[in-house]
Amino acid sequence: MKSAEIRKAFLNFFEERGHTLVPSSSLVPENDPTLLFTNAGMVPFKDVFLGRDQRPYVRATSAQRCVRAGGKHNDLDNVGYTARHHTFFEMLGNFSFGDYFKREAIQYAWSFLTEVLQLPAEKLWVTVHHSDDEAADIWINEIGVPAERLARLDEDNFWQMGDTGPCGPCSEVFYDHGPDVFGGPPGSPDEDGDRYIEIWNLVFMQYDRDSAGTLHPLPSPSIDTGMGLERMAAVVQGVHSNYEIDLFVNLIKAAARATGQSDLDQPSLRVIADHIRSCAFLIVDGVLPSNEGRGYVLRRIIRRAVRHGHKLGAREPFFHQLVAALDDEMGQAYPALHERAAQIEKILLREEEQFARTLDHGMRLLEEALGNLAGNTLDGGTIFKLYDTYGFPFDLTADIVRERGVELDEQGFESELEAQRERARAASRFGADYGSEISIAGRTEFTGYDQLEDEAEIVALLDE
Ligand code: ATP
Ligand code: MG
Ligand code: MG
Ligand code: MG
Repeated sequence: MKSAEIRKAFLNFFEERGHTLVPSSSLVPENDPTLLFTNAGMVPFKDVFLGRDQRPYVRATSAQRCVRAGGKHNDLDNVGYTARHHTFFEMLGNFSFGDYFKREAIQYAWSFLTEVLQLPAEKLWVTVHHSDDEAADIWINEIGVPAERLARLDEDNFWQMGDTGPCGPCSEVFYDHGPDVFGGPPGSPDEDGDRYIEIWNLVFMQYDRDSAGTLHPLPSPSIDTGMGLERMAAVVQGVHSNYEIDLFVNLIKAAARATGQSDLDQPSLRVIADHIRSCAFLIVDGVLPSNEGRGYVLRRIIRRAVRHGHKLGAREPFFHQLVAALDDEMGQAYPALHERAAQIEKILLREEEQFARTLDHGMRLLEEALGNLAGNTLDGGTIFKLYDTYGFPFDLTADIVRERGVELDEQGFESELEAQRERARAASRFGADYGSEISIAGRTEFTGYDQLEDEAEIVALLDE
């Protein structure tokens, strides 16, 4: 089964069971300034769970595009290091708003996994919250999961929307990729390995937490579930890593072609293939590269991708070329991606060209500093210079030196940054043009000026 077929099978399964198919929302959450990006299928339903929004249905299903590259859920640093994390992924979900609850949610999940996808039951492991006897009982006595494949866990298995409000225990389903891969079952000391991979998370919203922290049972509890499409595709396609599924194989090949690389196993290719998805879809949803907020997250991801291309030897802009391959893979499911492909290319190319002016010099400076390193920590002054003069966001430098096992003096960097802010404040008090006080790339300060300039340039570019 291809990824697209799994998506379809999931949505059909729940539609047949009375769920209304709700289209994916934007990656930029509506009316929610507290959240950087949509990072789970439940985000568009937040107000429904809170009782502030009424919908004409009590059951819903969706394939929600998600980004976890900033804020509370940040998987950016996992990309290239684990088999299962992306910055952009699709979360398939089924939701009950005060309708069915725990028993049905567990039965649906089990039936989809073992009957529709026909996964062997003996490869599936489950976890529940340590307090949740009810869920443990359903899994063991009604579904028939052997007690040795069920673990009772603590903090990972309790979900809450915020400090107060709806919350409840979770149950996670894991797939055992077999003894060739390192890792122990959930709850064991080696659980951080990639052998047992979490594929589905069921949230049982059954309490309302008050400001004193006390849990009150909700009169009509709700269900929120999330299943990662790419992880499920890996399982169904019989491969271990998400990066080996149909969609990613083609993106990785395209990345290899664009960077002139012949070794398809290079981790940098996986990073680039991951990053083109988050960057393209963020632009589809209206985010533009800038030095502030969401736009700065986008800019940082683009620069990381470009640096990985540079590492592979690419010296010409390559990243924008991957939009065509992505369109081939996902344009049908997401018509807006297809329609805006040419614009996305232009925006990415502009960013690549802008960063290309300083990347090579910055890399030379960094190599030199690493060559002369006395201890095992890169000093704050160098990190700051890379940031301020060469447009290397802090996390980009961190991404590079991590490959060499070197640490960063983050505090030193912060105090250089603070000193710069102080200088700028002093300069502006004397009426200096602070827009030119600070060099071009990579800062997060003085964004008003810069933001407008970025947007104006991009608008002009798209009009061409
Ligand atoms: P993990 O523990 O592996 O990081 P999680 O518990 O953070 O996963 P949830 O927040 O429960 O993930 O999200 C629901 C589902 O979405 C997961 O079970 C998984 O299938 C998928 N998922 C979560 N994060 C990612 C990611 N970064 N890339 C791809 N799929 C993901
Ligand atoms: Mg996670
Ligand atoms: Mg987890
Ligand atoms: Mg989870």
